[in-house]
Amino acid sequence: MSRSVLVTGGNRGIGLAIARELAAAGDAVAVTYRSGEPPAGLFAVKCDVTSTEDVDAAFAKVEAEQGPVQVVVANAGVTKDTLLAIMSEDAFTSVLDTNLTGAFRVAKRSVKGMMRARTGRIILVSSVVGLSGSAGQANYAASKAGMVGFARSLARELASRNITVNVVAPGFVDTDMTAVLSDDQHKAIEGVIPLGRKARPEEIAKTVRFLAGDDAAYITGAVIPVDGGLGMGH
Ligand code: NDP
Repeated sequence: MSRSVLVTGGNRGIGLAIARELAAAGDAVAVTYRSGEPPAGLFAVKCDVTSTEDVDAAFAKVEAEQGPVQVVVANAGVTKDTLLAIMSEDAFTSVLDTNLTGAFRVAKRSVKGMMRARTGRIILVSSVVGLSGSAGQANYAASKAGMVGFARSLARELASRNITVNVVAPGFVDTDMTAVLSDDQHKAIEGVIPLGRKARPEEIAKTVRFLAGDDAAYITGAVIPVDGGLGMGH
């Protein structure tokens, strides 16, 4: 059965892979994009998740196009890596505003329709570093850890309405976000991943597809690592 899906940050990287995966599964999939061009073949709305007005307007357009959103994937995210001693307050708060408060804005706007429909799926894209911590990424790791507590609280609040809320925690994925790292950094990180390689965005997307599907109906408040074993034990 085709559902109305919205993926934030769906114009590239992991978000685009998720959107394509769900579209291939037969869903009506909309994506948000912030800069650049909308991706080919998907309904796209411009939206900066740091703006409540943008988020509201994006949902309104998606609802008009494909009906109330039944599956939402809060994927949009940024990094501004640096050590705490030299991290500006803006570098901290702006990453929190995009990654964590952005997910809040998106989830909050989506639950209106889901509560009315008494069904829904909310999937948040966090990160292995939200659980393990990461030197030079205190802002990013804090935002990703915050998503876990946020999701688990929503899972408890919304379970009686048959809305599940889950977190996917990718490890090291081959996208623009990690392309900025040097070859030496890539080798060092791959060296500590038990499976010895980066993930392809499609490998994250397949887990999201599972969580969005009927087979995951009894899973809520879960944090699913897709990290080649990098975060084992966390
Ligand atoms: P990319 O940098 O390739 O893409 C980021 C996406 O987020 C883009 O679509 C971007 O839009 C969008 N975005 C960023 N800021 C905003 C904003 N304020 N409003 C709306 N959209 C925004 O990253 P990835 O695909 O690698 O990452 C996707 C998610 O996965 C992120 O949440 C990231 O933290 C997480 N993740 C990534 C990992 C990795 O190794 N790559 C590992 C673990 C988690 P635009 O194109 O307009 O900039």
